[in-house]
Amino acid sequence: MTELTYRYVALSDTGLRRAGNEDSGYASDHLLVVADGMGGAAAGELASSETMHVIRQLDRSDLDGDAMAALEQAVDDANERLAALITADPAVEGMGTTLDALLWDGEKFAFAHIGDSRVYRLRGPELTQISTDHTFVQSLIDEGRISPAEARVHPHRSLILRAMLGRDDNAADLSWLQPSLGDRYLLCSDGLTDMVTDDVIRRTLGAETIDMAATELVRLALEGGGYDNVTVVIAEFVRLGTEPDENLSSADGQPQLVGAAASQERPRTGEGTSGTDATRRKAADLDPEELRYAPRPPSRNRWFRWVAALVVIMAILGAVGAYAYDWSQKQYFVAADNGKVTIFRGVQADIPGITLQHVERVTDVELSSLPEFRRQQVEAGIQASSRADAEKTVAELDQLAVRPTPAPTKTPSRKPTPSKTTSAAAASAVWLQ
Ligand code: CA
Repeated sequence: MTELTYRYVALSDTGLRRAGNEDSGYASDHLLVVADGMGGAAAGELASSETMHVIRQLDRSDLDGDAMAALEQAVDDANERLAALITADPAVEGMGTTLDALLWDGEKFAFAHIGDSRVYRLRGPELTQISTDHTFVQSLIDEGRISPAEARVHPHRSLILRAMLGRDDNAADLSWLQPSLGDRYLLCSDGLTDMVTDDVIRRTLGAETIDMAATELVRLALEGGGYDNVTVVIAEFVRLGTEPDENLSSADGQPQLVGAAASQERPRTGEGTSGTDATRRKAADLDPEELRYAPRPPSRNRWFRWVAALVVIMAILGAVGAYAYDWSQKQYFVAADNGKVTIFRGVQADIPGITLQHVERVTDVELSSLPEFRRQQVEAGIQASSRADAEKTVAELDQLAVRPTPAPTKTPSRKPTPSKTTSAAAASAVWLQ
């Protein structure tokens, strides 16, 4: 197996719209880091730079144990550092930072990721996003509700579901990465990925040198609008023992620290600077970064969605109900009412509070005069497709009705005529079908 090492470069720019740089970047021959702070200008710078300073403690060749254990411990330490700062100065409550850190153990990277900064790998012509964004829109993509293209223009695309917040409920993703000769790794803040597409990143990351790639990526982010701070850290894998390229910024072997963590005026809190709280708050009030972190989709929106869904369901039920009622009032049936065959309008069903039928006409056909079978049919209700159809049914029943004879005799004086019998038999045949 080829023994590998890497060249590196780190570059950060405030961008065209932000007053300060809340990103921090770091690159050395052991460690690559990007942290994108949030929570208001001053607090965001504090979160990313303090996190960076803790993680940078890993940049040494005499680590105890394996790289992953050391990295995990450093992430915990950084989180505790943020918690301590928030306790010391409640004005910075809500500050946080993304973190992508790659720690080289001589063979592979231990990788920690939390938030929406990204790690890409360019291997040959193929660009792969190694990290998964901890964002609201990524959760929608995972659920198949939106496409990656829709995510790029989603109104809540900057909402982060996980970040370093000084709390213990926001674990980082930890994994190992195995680089190959020629691989280029890019760590970047969303100030780059919001401004340029993956395809542009793929083409640009393959530039002649990584220094050129870094410069060009930052330039493209600014050209794309430069709405946010933009930070890129790039590593390129070469054979161990390869002569340093004097044209590269890493040729001197020195670590590169950029962005908020490199600022000499990095804000301190909990150290007698409470006078700056008002300024910090004011900056936070104005800074959209304050609103980036959301542990879950905003509850107000979620509640609103439930109400909206309920209203839509009610409207559908209302529309369906109105249509159904309208339909019901065009139906007829023949049934019994007070012992008489009666034509009803509507349907034979009742919904509490709503009457779906009313008497259209009470006939003079007695229920008791009908043959048993037809009487049972009438008691159960005989559907009709129209008023005329209902009248036809009544006429047929009338023909079957046995009426008292006007002059009682021993022998039946009221014999049905053959035609009548035929008619009645035909009617019964129809009903029996
Ligand atoms: Ca950002």
